Amino acid sequence: MVYDRNNIFARILRAEIPCKKVYENEFVLAFYDINPLKKHHVLVIPRGEYVSFDDFTTRAPAQIQAEFYAAIQKVAADLGLDKTGYRLISNHGSDGGQEVPHYHVHILGGEKVGEMTA
Ligand code: AMP
Repeated sequence: MVYDRNNIFARILRAEIPCKKVYENEFVLAFYDINPLKKHHVLVIPRGEYVSFDDFTTRAPAQIQAEFYAAIQKVAADLGLDKTGYRLISNHGSDGGQEVPHYHVHILGGEKVGEMTA
């Protein structure tokens, strides 16, 4: 799948549209979901151009992948969710319900997250 440079997360990365930033470093950006499903609903995205989980894990260098998952852990811990628990979700493709074609992981927590699927 070809990466769409005009997808909404690409535009957030370029600061063309605002976001409620939680954390950033040279590898990732984390921000609150615009339509939060739980008290804490944060999206973590790599800065690189990766469409999906599949694209990221097959193409991104090992260090980039390691930094990405380390950042998810840090964001969850900084929010205190490591103590109470949280859920990570990554929707992939059409059947997975992926809406934005820039790889991202949802962090959901701050309250009981509920059933695994709807
Ligand atoms: P997914 O279905 O996994 O692709 O999820 C995309 C998520 O991006 C949804 O939960 C949306 O609410 C969220 N979203 C869409 N536009 C924005 C935006 N401008 N800022 C923050 N979150 C957004």
